[in-house]
Amino acid sequence: MTTTSVAAYAAASANAPLEKTSVPRRPVGEHDVLIEIKYAGICHSDIHQARDGWGEGIFPMVPGHEIAGVVTEVGSGVSKYAVGDRVGVGCFVDSCRECAYCKEGLEQYCVRGATGTYNALDKNGEPTYGGYSTHIVVDENYTVRIPEGISLDVAAPLLCAGITLYSPLAHWNAGPGKKVAVVGLGGLGHMGVKIAHALGAEVTVLSQTLRKQEDGLKLGADHFYATSDPKTFEELAGTFDLIVSTVSAPLDMDAYLSLVKTDGAFVNVGAPEEPNSLNMFSLIGGRKTLAGSMIGGIAETQEMLDFCAQHGLGAEIELIRADQINEAYERVLASDVRYRFVIDAATI
Ligand code: NAP
Ligand code: ZN
Ligand code: ZN
Repeated sequence: MTTTSVAAYAAASANAPLEKTSVPRRPVGEHDVLIEIKYAGICHSDIHQARDGWGEGIFPMVPGHEIAGVVTEVGSGVSKYAVGDRVGVGCFVDSCRECAYCKEGLEQYCVRGATGTYNALDKNGEPTYGGYSTHIVVDENYTVRIPEGISLDVAAPLLCAGITLYSPLAHWNAGPGKKVAVVGLGGLGHMGVKIAHALGAEVTVLSQTLRKQEDGLKLGADHFYATSDPKTFEELAGTFDLIVSTVSAPLDMDAYLSLVKTDGAFVNVGAPEEPNSLNMFSLIGGRKTLAGSMIGGIAETQEMLDFCAQHGLGAEIELIRADQINEAYERVLASDVRYRFVIDAATI
């Protein structure tokens, strides 16, 4: 029952390259599981934070909130898991457990703030360290089961990219008869296409160029348009019941809102470092909804994993060694990821 030191990749300060180091993991408590991490996805949020683009970063920082691994030890009070179980950890590892949102399974919107898997302080004031590491200790209630039908490498990105798209698609009723557009075909976007297609919606990808068109159609999109072509905005005016934007940079909101039907919704999940502005007439003209959505709760994350297993969905991944993380970051920033980098934790 002692704190252990585990290998990890960390950014020592904002903009420093990620390098191998070691970080402490707390002793396995009564309700904790010790997880041997097998794979960790690279989310664009890791890059925003490792480069302190959102501010207030805690360094050294071990990013990683798309974690897939195997339980190697359980606390005395653990009832959900046994040694050998395949489990996942997403973007948060704790929350207050008492507020209305926590009680409703919306822990991500906890009024006291859910505790981030990394770049946060836990209840004892200790910094949390994420998934670019060999092991992590997490409360069983903030851990989900990875169904047997999904291999761990392609499951890892579901823990953030998968749930971040599943939650709004489910909430805004993407399904048969609905025209849904996904903006940005990266890590989040490609899971959005797969999930919206599996839900039965008619899916359109809005990508900067047609470079990824063939992939988009294979992933399940019915249509694919380049947003660099002004004709796209003329042709698709007033088309969509739901648009989900995964873009990591500010957008011309008025142009995208013009593509939403009357009573339709534009839901933003991208988290750009700069603010965005819009003309209110873009909303009032068509009684349109502009909304945001953040990951999903624990129960909904489990529901998403079960849905993905049932439909044979996993992420399209490029498996990398830990010493390729910095190179992978550059490729994500250049929109050159197809479609999620996943770190093989055995190389850490
Ligand atoms: P990603 O893999 O880099 O994908 C973003 C995609 O957006 C790119 O592949 C690109 O697609 C498009 N894009 C990038 N720059 C653009 C620009 N300047 N103009 C127009 N399109 C652009 O990133 P990700 O991991 O999917 O994450 C996307 C964003 O969501 C990030 O800001 C991340 O922090 C945020 N995020 C939010 C949540 C949440 O809970 N709300 C969860 C996870 C991540 P095309 O090449 O197809 O144009
Ligand atoms: Zn993420
Ligand atoms: Zn709460």
